[in-house]
Amino acid sequence: MSKNILILPGDGIGPEIVGEAVKVLDELIAQGLDVSYENALVGGAAFDACGHPLPETTLKKAREADAILLGAVGGYEWESLDISLRPEKALLGLRSELELFANLRPAILSRQLADASSLKAELVEDLDILIVRELTGGIYFGQPRGVETLENGEKRGFNTYVYTESEVKRIAHVAFKAAQKRQKRLCSVDKANVLEVTEMWREIVIEVARDYPDVELTHMYVDNASMQLIREPKQFDVMVTGNMFGDILSDSAAMLTGSIGMLPSASLDASAKGMYEPIHGSAPDIKGQNIANPLATILSLAMLLRYSLNEEQFALNIEQAVNSVLDAGLRTADIYTDGTEKVSTTEMGQAVRSALSKSGSNS
Ligand code: NAD
Repeated sequence: MSKNILILPGDGIGPEIVGEAVKVLDELIAQGLDVSYENALVGGAAFDACGHPLPETTLKKAREADAILLGAVGGYEWESLDISLRPEKALLGLRSELELFANLRPAILSRQLADASSLKAELVEDLDILIVRELTGGIYFGQPRGVETLENGEKRGFNTYVYTESEVKRIAHVAFKAAQKRQKRLCSVDKANVLEVTEMWREIVIEVARDYPDVELTHMYVDNASMQLIREPKQFDVMVTGNMFGDILSDSAAMLTGSIGMLPSASLDASAKGMYEPIHGSAPDIKGQNIANPLATILSLAMLLRYSLNEEQFALNIEQAVNSVLDAGLRTADIYTDGTEKVSTTEMGQAVRSALSKSGSNS
């Protein structure tokens, strides 16, 4: 039976960039990829149409789909809504309803864009790191939490850093499996010298490693990992870590690449069903101008094919097509530099599809 993808364009530039990714998907279907897809409303667009950012009909379709491709949500017009009705609530709702506990954030910098990084080009050229972040546990969710006033009138704030064995095991399995699809090197990041919970994290990761003898496992304290990311980022293949450390490290790694419009992400459940989206937001400042960079969304589609649909070859074909348009010097405004050719959202999408159709007719 063919797999089903749910398309959630969302708000702002969402419909423009997702539109280009869907045309790429159509090209792959024409080349033999066996999938079907349907659309649904999410975020501000859903609020305007039905009074809620995550309508029940969208949630039902999301539960039934094998994978979800999301643009972005949010915009000025919904900023004054009650927090429970804001577009961003839909993302949290989808993550928790679908138990998307594993966040995969690649930081990839093609050599053509090495000058966009704040680091020296030779440090980041061809950078390709994957950060696997636990997304639904750790200190962001641990109980008890709060701020209390002590008898002497002093305030005391507290959060709880907690992981269960099963939570660590399931994220470790995702990370090892991802490493198997790459260079087979996994670095687990913790603070095992200070925090008991991450000492346990380390022991469990070592235990899980026995199932993956082909993957080389190393460990690093988070303070050192943040230094190493800036000092010599290319030493890493896959990094796995908890929610808070992953939040910080994945943003640092993204910045190494210097171009927010290029980076995809995935959030997966235990059976590798996932929601895939660019790391950037809905960019309301450039909405409707046909200048947004669609490549992060197109690369999110490649991740979807790789991780949820197991279609490695189609995923690679997309990544190679993106590389070839960059090689040809095509750039949207956000990554444009002197000597390259500035193109619109739709022209960039069309160029990727042309490169894909060439690779399809050659295979
Ligand atoms: P943003 O990522 O939307 O934009 C930041 C800057 O990057 C803007 O100048 C924008 O024009 C630019 N930019 C972003 N994506 C681009 C692309 N593909 N091509 C070219 N330029 C691009 O972040 P923001 O401005 O802080 O937030 C705008 C809205 O997006 C807010 O409502 C916020 O809540 C929402 N948001 C949504 C998500 C999501 O849906 N996952 C994530 C972050 C922010």
